[in-house]
Amino acid sequence: MATKFIFITGGVVSSLGKGIAAASIGLLLKSRGLKVENQKFDPYLNIDPGTMDPFQHGEVFVTIDGGETDLDLGHYERFTDVTLHKFNNTTSGKVYKSLLDRERAGDFQGETVQVIPHVTDEIKSRILQTATETGADVVITEIGGTVGDIESLPFIEAIRQIKFSVGRENCAFIHLGLLPYLKECGEIKTKPMQHSVKELLGFGIQPDIIMCRSEKQLTKSIREKLGLFCNVSQDSIIENLTAKSIYEVPLMLEREGIGKKLISLLNLPDAEPALTEWKAMVHKFYHPETEITIALVGKYIDLHDSYLSVAEALTAGGIFHNTRVKIDWIDSENIQTPEKAAELLEKADGIIIPGGFGDRGTTGMILSARYAREHKIPYFGICLGMQISVIEFARNVLGMDDANSTEFSKNTEHPVIDLMPDQKDVDLGGTLRLGACTCLLSEGSLSEKAYKVHEVQERHRHRYEFNNLFREQFESSDMIFAGRNPDRNLIEIVELKSHPWFVGVQFHPEFASRPNRPHPLFRDFIGAALQNK
Ligand code: GLN
Repeated sequence: MATKFIFITGGVVSSLGKGIAAASIGLLLKSRGLKVENQKFDPYLNIDPGTMDPFQHGEVFVTIDGGETDLDLGHYERFTDVTLHKFNNTTSGKVYKSLLDRERAGDFQGETVQVIPHVTDEIKSRILQTATETGADVVITEIGGTVGDIESLPFIEAIRQIKFSVGRENCAFIHLGLLPYLKECGEIKTKPMQHSVKELLGFGIQPDIIMCRSEKQLTKSIREKLGLFCNVSQDSIIENLTAKSIYEVPLMLEREGIGKKLISLLNLPDAEPALTEWKAMVHKFYHPETEITIALVGKYIDLHDSYLSVAEALTAGGIFHNTRVKIDWIDSENIQTPEKAAELLEKADGIIIPGGFGDRGTTGMILSARYAREHKIPYFGICLGMQISVIEFARNVLGMDDANSTEFSKNTEHPVIDLMPDQKDVDLGGTLRLGACTCLLSEGSLSEKAYKVHEVQERHRHRYEFNNLFREQFESSDMIFAGRNPDRNLIEIVELKSHPWFVGVQFHPEFASRPNRPHPLFRDFIGAALQNK
């Protein structure tokens, strides 16, 4: 069977949940036995989001091969349970870089290098590469941004052209737009969507499916109007209501008939979608037996998307234990004293400190880690959160008053967290320790109990590291090294012997968690928090 290509564009406004829609479509097709692969094309010029401010861009999702990618890849992985790679996220920056590198190498042999055909050809080759690289039955490509943005034009042109490379019968175009509801007149408005489709038509693309984000159900007359002015049949109009949970979106879209429609459009073998497990997960999520509060202490709190995968992994741990996890988002800069830490963390059943960069807010994180250690509250430190727990322990238990990471203080006499030797004098972008590395687990540790194996692979994204010069001092104390990277003898996990559940990991387990299969450490962290309740 020839690979089929589904393209998802957005219209009217941004932030309509195109990523969730793309992920949901992936799940619905996979549940029919098809091999799916999602990818995202981002029109901005950064090579990747690795150096972007989390406040602007949200979390950077890390793939096993060390790609720093858009957070939508996290939705794709969680919904489809397909492990993605660097090539699943292309940016204009990547496209231009590879073209310009070739231009400098003389590959174009005197040709003028232009947006058309060179940029569009490069984009097309990346769409096709994902198909050949993965052998997928269906490649689902989400185009970031909104149709009409200047920077997304080459992408729109490339997907228009690609139907001639792969055959019209092998392509489906979905346009997702907003139908605003005007309270004053009690009406859903279709005009912005009509204009958006017209814009797309102007670029030569007739959408096969119109997906309508709406607060209210679409009436028959709205559907008729949309069909008439957007040139689509009634079964091509898919309502996408605001759901109580993103996990419900695939089920909602399936009820709207998107699965069947895509199967018939692309002439794919039909099968009953196997969604029992997903449905059971959604049911469990909606019917918790208890509730716990997890304090998430970080410095990018104002934009929850900065910690998207962490929040999702906490939720997944909760679903496993039939528990609703209420996240108490705490700005670490609001904690400057032990008293303030006590005041803000008093209600927490567990405390988590996720990843981060830079000195700002670390005082509050150190105070929070101390509070968790001293009050025996389950603590989960991720990457920076692990480093923070090491600094806190060195200062307050081992008596190294000025212990620090050299990321925050270059001249400390106790650099318990230090730059890895291969990280000195490198460029900022793409040079962190990235992607999956091996971690050997110590026998009898909490981590080994959670994973139930001795060796795991986990994804990394950091530059600093536990400083092995201090190893002995820590080893003769209450802190144990529960995980070690054998290739470079790096400490990957720290735990405390005399604490019910205190685990700091140098890696990012949140990226491997799935709503229906929580990461073992998140599962056990929530379990410990429940016991502490
Ligand atoms: N800033 C720390 C480092 O670079 C931690 C990074 C992180 O939390 N992802 O090592």
